[in-house]
Amino acid sequence: MAATASETDSRQLLRRLRDVLNEESAGQLRLDRITRLIAESTGSDVCSIYLFRDSETLELCATEGLNPEAVHKTRLRIGEGLVGRVARSGMPVNTADAPSEPGFRYMPETGEEVFSSFLGIPIQRLGETIGVLVVQSRQPRRCSEEAVYALEVVAMVLAEMAELGAFVGEGAALAPLHRKSVMFRTGIGQEGVAAGRVWLHEPRVVVTNPVADDPKAEMIRLQQAVEQLRITVDDMLSLADTGDKEQREVLETYRMFARSAGWLRRMEEDIARGLSAEAAVEKEQSLARARMAHAAPYLRERLHDLDDLSNRLLRILTGQGRDTGAEMPDDPVLVARNIGPGELLEYGRRLKGIVLEEGSVGSHAAIVARALAIPLLIHAERITTEALNGDPILLDGEQGIVHLRPEETVAAAFRDKIAMAAKAQERYAALRDQPAVDLSGQRIALHMNAGLMADLPSLKGSGAEGVGLFRTELQFLVRNTVPRRGELVALYRRVMDAADGRRVVFRTLDIGSDKVLPYMKPQDEPNPAMGWRAIRVGLEKKGIMRMQLQALIRAADGRPLAVMFPFIAQFDEFREAREHFLSVLEHERRLGHTMPEKVEIGAMVETPSMAFAPRQFFEMTDFISIGGNDLKQFFFAADRENERVRRRYDTLNVSFLSLVHRIVERCREAGTPLSFCGEDAGRPIEATCLAAIGVQSLSMRPASIGPVKHLIRRVNLKELRAVIESACGSGVQSVRPAVMDYLRAMS
Ligand code: PEP
Ligand code: MG
Repeated sequence: MAATASETDSRQLLRRLRDVLNEESAGQLRLDRITRLIAESTGSDVCSIYLFRDSETLELCATEGLNPEAVHKTRLRIGEGLVGRVARSGMPVNTADAPSEPGFRYMPETGEEVFSSFLGIPIQRLGETIGVLVVQSRQPRRCSEEAVYALEVVAMVLAEMAELGAFVGEGAALAPLHRKSVMFRTGIGQEGVAAGRVWLHEPRVVVTNPVADDPKAEMIRLQQAVEQLRITVDDMLSLADTGDKEQREVLETYRMFARSAGWLRRMEEDIARGLSAEAAVEKEQSLARARMAHAAPYLRERLHDLDDLSNRLLRILTGQGRDTGAEMPDDPVLVARNIGPGELLEYGRRLKGIVLEEGSVGSHAAIVARALAIPLLIHAERITTEALNGDPILLDGEQGIVHLRPEETVAAAFRDKIAMAAKAQERYAALRDQPAVDLSGQRIALHMNAGLMADLPSLKGSGAEGVGLFRTELQFLVRNTVPRRGELVALYRRVMDAADGRRVVFRTLDIGSDKVLPYMKPQDEPNPAMGWRAIRVGLEKKGIMRMQLQALIRAADGRPLAVMFPFIAQFDEFREAREHFLSVLEHERRLGHTMPEKVEIGAMVETPSMAFAPRQFFEMTDFISIGGNDLKQFFFAADRENERVRRRYDTLNVSFLSLVHRIVERCREAGTPLSFCGEDAGRPIEATCLAAIGVQSLSMRPASIGPVKHLIRRVNLKELRAVIESACGSGVQSVRPAVMDYLRAMS
């Protein structure tokens, strides 16, 4: 096979392909003409195009040389046969003797048995394989590197044509990309439903002209863009914090890539073969992404740099990208691969919802989304590839489903769902000033969780009695440097001012585990959730804790102050933290600062060990708050971040309820007030059961107060307690079914 090797031949072929693209014809006709053109100009006996029918199946969509009857009939699973191997690995297969290659699969319907040599090239766009281009010949000959390269350029143009919808139409395999409706099953970062339009955090660059006529002009465009990119990177480097060695090293490597002669040379070669500057950048980016999937972790980081540089270069070349001047829709749903907490805060409450390809339940983005009460769905695989700015999108944060460009029937059902949710909200709003009192007259205190100033406006609207958990680490997480004491004083003062006399329980820094401060050296720990975190850091780095406690005392400025220490796992940790607080108080007094009118020092019980702590622990604490999220993960040894296991164990599991009950009893014996502040406090059924077994104070996200109050007011907690006790004694694993029966009978 003499596959097109010379640059002139290559340019000619690309031009002819472009002409096909510009013709007014149906998708299938285009595909047929393209295979003919490629076979002709490469001097091959066969040229075939396989495209993905769905994520697992490739379909022969056009061929010149194989049996035409096989078109749209021959299908392969990814990984199956040589074509499937190319698709799976994203790498070419080039062999003189196809039948003797491992994995070769004979497909009688195609009549390909007479062809010995085989060259398969992945058709990729932005690292995603959308099909495979194959040329075959009778002559047993391996293609030259040059020929492989030439066909890669052709495959690149095919990928761009597919992206532009060139193969859509009757008979063609590809449904219109970016036009059909797609459903994603996702993880849930923050519950809620939302409907809106896609707003891409990093908009996709659309290359409309993959083929260019004038290589010289394209070369100049590329060189100018690269020059501009290099200047930007140099600027970044000069602005960087020169004291931070690690950051500098990263940027230096980044600059090295931007200056890499090899990178530029490869793109120039692509242009010489007929690609436009943009298409050349994308081709290199695609190759880098394909390599990224197989690279060692260290190299992967470097390839990430290259990816980022390619994106910047594309934005310079096309003028598209983040600052395109495109108008954000009125109802934006942010779609991104991932996003940092700071960036999310910048978008703020304007967003109707957020969908991420990556992310995790405890990520900083999730924490901020929760604070802003915006539904967040995570692990929506490939959504940034599928979605375009302005696409209609629906988020079901109860089920973990995203509908992109939904069918009308789905959209209509969704409208009903949203209307019902809005009705329920109205009902809850009407309860705002009512207490959470059950039918037997027992009163449960409902508080809200907070962590950002942005949360505080919810305090009045939600009907919460106060803030039961203020996660102070959020302020540290959303910025790049350690906040100064003065800034903290100002912030805590604003929080207390906003609370307007209501109690706010400040939790000291809970960093480590999933909450890694951007400016702290990451600890290389095998299991960070059980590692150096929270009070363990606080007691070893007393400077930070002292600064925080001083800031709280000064911000209180004579008002009552409630502080609790997170992740206490043994009595001495609490004793030491408490003594430290008392010594800071004394020090502040001597400095002449006004003392708080009242000081409460509490502990969070987040490990099962504390349910078995000495009696004196319960006596010494002014109050206790159960951190149910951590307590549950450690009780069941099930990572709260791990989607596979985190839903496996029910909060209403008999063993877990019995642990909570033990803590309730121990607090009662010592006369210590107890509250519960994990996510379960905000789930109406779980919250009501906790109340029934004796937890008289619950702290939850503001949006949950209404639903929890609504249910508590409709039940008799004494009766519910009896239902739970009887279920616990019956040998069942979870009391949920019995509780549900009781609740159904009530309504
Ligand atoms: C908890 O563990 O339940 C808790 C409230 O703390 P966080 O979720 O911040 O770990
Ligand atoms: Mg916790």
